[in-house]
Amino acid sequence: MSGRRDKSGEGLVIAIDGPSGVGKSTISQSLAERFGCRYVDTGAMYRAVALLARQKSVSLEDPEGLAELGGGMEIEFVVTSEGPGVKLQGEDVSLSLRLPGVSEEASRLSRFPEVREVLVEKQRELGRQGRVVMEGRDIGTVVLPDADLKVFLEAEAEERAKRRYLQWKEKGIEVPQDQLAKEIVSRDQRDKTRKVAPLVPAADAAVIDTTRLTPDQVLGRIHALLEERGLA
Ligand code: C5P
Repeated sequence: MSGRRDKSGEGLVIAIDGPSGVGKSTISQSLAERFGCRYVDTGAMYRAVALLARQKSVSLEDPEGLAELGGGMEIEFVVTSEGPGVKLQGEDVSLSLRLPGVSEEASRLSRFPEVREVLVEKQRELGRQGRVVMEGRDIGTVVLPDADLKVFLEAEAEERAKRRYLQWKEKGIEVPQDQLAKEIVSRDQRDKTRKVAPLVPAADAAVIDTTRLTPDQVLGRIHALLEERGLA
């Protein structure tokens, strides 16, 4: 696929995967901005299904009902003055998608193949439009296996909990760091061990440990990889 791309990055498709709190959103958003690509947060799609399930009282143990919600939902990735946001059925849900509990529910429902199938189809459609930076857990392995560049970010769990803690604090919300650490570890465990599309790096992904790197250093490494491939 990459052979068809020119040096200006026409059609550029970048897949960013990794566990929660590793810096995927920061890095993906910066890359999208730098290369004029659309930013797609696939975790927001699983979260959106969780939110709709709450609103419509669909059980988290009802794969068909959840898949129907996912298939029928209208989700839009928008850029607002406060940065990237998400609209669900026309309504700004950027904040409610991050509510405590929604992460856990998204992770629980993401194990169902029925749910993944409908969301992956939506994600591939966005990928086909080109010029996209897509972040998630299975982008390089399942959603966009032909991406021009696949990056898998890693970081020690303690560092990821610290980053999440600071993110919440910045929003004026105090969540104990040990509670965040517990959530991260339990979500990682579920995401890595599920039968369908588990969290693993694609064989051809560049794995970057971000524990001791600043976002700029991570971006520098990714930029170098794009240059090596003649894509930047
Ligand atoms: O990335 P984020 O933390 O928003 O994702 C929420 C949950 O959605 C993850 O814990 C994971 O279970 C699920 N997810 C997934 N596949 C993706 C993106 C997210 O299974 N591509």
